[in-house]
Amino acid sequence: MVRKKDQIEILLMNKSKPDITKRQQQLLNELKRCTDELSGQELHRKFHNGEKAMGLTTVYRNLQALVKQGLIRSRHLPNGEVLYAPVERDIHHLTCVSCGETTRLQGCPVKTMHVPQKASKRFELLFHTLEYFGLCQNCSQEMNA
Ligand SMILES: [Zn+2]
Ligand SMILES: [Zn+2]
Repeated sequence: MVRKKDQIEILLMNKSKPDITKRQQQLLNELKRCTDELSGQELHRKFHNGEKAMGLTTVYRNLQALVKQGLIRSRHLPNGEVLYAPVERDIHHLTCVSCGETTRLQGCPVKTMHVPQKASKRFELLFHTLEYFGLCQNCSQEMNA
């Protein structure tokens, strides 16, 4: 006889098809609805009231699960904050290393670049990241003042 704990572990190991929970679906919907990226904190605030309420730890745990299933992408800022967006959204940013201000780039500079076929055959490509870091005008002026 299989114990309940083992059954749960078997379910967790079975990753053949993405099977997302109601909470994960709610987070995914929220990220799709928003045109910009959202942090865990922002998502937490959106679900703060009402029947959909979930704690911050729950939000992060479910975001991590969505990342693992290849449904959302995450981007780490120099201040330690992590921003999330649906995986199919192709956006890039310029980030100031001093104040953390980010500016969205128009278009994707690497869209036309292709992963060598030999590698892509053994790898299902989900998304790519490209980040530019530097000093924004304000910080640059402050440093030179
Ligand atoms: Zn700055
Ligand atoms: Zn891109």
